[in-house]
Amino acid sequence: MNLQLSWVPGANRPDGDFPLNNLPCGVFSRAGEEPRCGMAIGDFVLDVAALEEEGLLVLDGGPLLDVPFWNEVMEVGPAVWAALRARVAEFLNEGSQFRAQVEPHLVPLADVALHMPLLVSEYTDFYAGRNHAQNVGTMFRGAENALPPNWLHIPIGYNGRASSVVVSGTPVRRPWGQVKGPDHAVPAFQPSRRFDIELELGAVVGQASTHGHPVTVDEAEAMIFGYVLLNDWSARDIQAWEYQPLGPFQAKATATSISPWIVMSAALEPFRTSTPAREVPLLPYLHEPRPMLYDIALEVALTPEGGRETVISRTNYAEMYYSAPQQLAHHTTSGCAMTVGDLLGSGTISGAAKDARGSLLELSWGGKEPFAIDGGTRSFIEDNDTLTLRGHAQGKGYRIGFGACRGQVLPALADPYARGK
Ligand code: CA
Repeated sequence: MNLQLSWVPGANRPDGDFPLNNLPCGVFSRAGEEPRCGMAIGDFVLDVAALEEEGLLVLDGGPLLDVPFWNEVMEVGPAVWAALRARVAEFLNEGSQFRAQVEPHLVPLADVALHMPLLVSEYTDFYAGRNHAQNVGTMFRGAENALPPNWLHIPIGYNGRASSVVVSGTPVRRPWGQVKGPDHAVPAFQPSRRFDIELELGAVVGQASTHGHPVTVDEAEAMIFGYVLLNDWSARDIQAWEYQPLGPFQAKATATSISPWIVMSAALEPFRTSTPAREVPLLPYLHEPRPMLYDIALEVALTPEGGRETVISRTNYAEMYYSAPQQLAHHTTSGCAMTVGDLLGSGTISGAAKDARGSLLELSWGGKEPFAIDGGTRSFIEDNDTLTLRGHAQGKGYRIGFGACRGQVLPALADPYARGK
């Protein structure tokens, strides 16, 4: 697949996130106006809601874009997703006969605020990165017991909270919680001192499944509308005390940030790649009929307040042991129904190399090996640090980018139970 040329400024730049091949879905607003659906192209967002209002963009089952989220488009299914991409490509391709009609509906990205691109109905977080599971398991339980006995057989996960999913740019307040150090007899309630990120990809489920009816891996793939970058903020000190035997709870409930653009699965099609070799055979219901991961370069950057950005990790989505369709299929084995707007976190994406680890816990090896940033070192996040995730699939002369997923960590409240004025 080559770059599809567009007449929109910035769309044909080889290092831009938003060529015509991409067309990711977001929700934007101009100052003083209500949020509305748009698609990113070059240095602009295309006001697709306006094009639908004018009757230029007609979608089966429409109107679908008269609400400030993409769930209604997702709900009508893959045939409409494909029709939308094809029609918008007609508007924006070089030499398009629609240019005069469409051009007034381009808004500079620099002039808009971006909002949650979907209503997240439910949120599940998995633990599907082999290197991450090995690293964290080693720190929490020792190298001998690092990988739980189920790990190579089941894409393990836990049910998270849709209410705590926020869009890039939303500040994240350092949480308080219950912690207990190995040298203490009883726990204390205090601000987290080991607040962290998790570099993940989020799969956005665009089609529901029926309660009581498991789906196959093949069916699961067709249900996925697209992907976002996802930062699953994690309080490691709270996690270490609370996680046994039911897994993370408050340690992961402060916030989960997502990038503002949903990159549709169709845009990632040229970048398919296989999951790594199986260390033990999977049960038949988890077999993939074709490669279902994507080659997506990922990075994490840390910027101290008033300081300069340092890229602290570079890795790739292809590191995952389980793909999103495998996770989604497994999620329905119990008969659990999936809904439009379900969000599945991949699990932390760490490579084998030290500088390819997707969390500060791993980068600093539990705080024992602080790593360098511009002007200092870090073990865990300090107050007012900004963490930024970026990702793109690299094509020939173009890239499919996700836009940034950014969040600044604000200091903990002085007293979370203070009431009154
Ligand atoms: Ca996670």
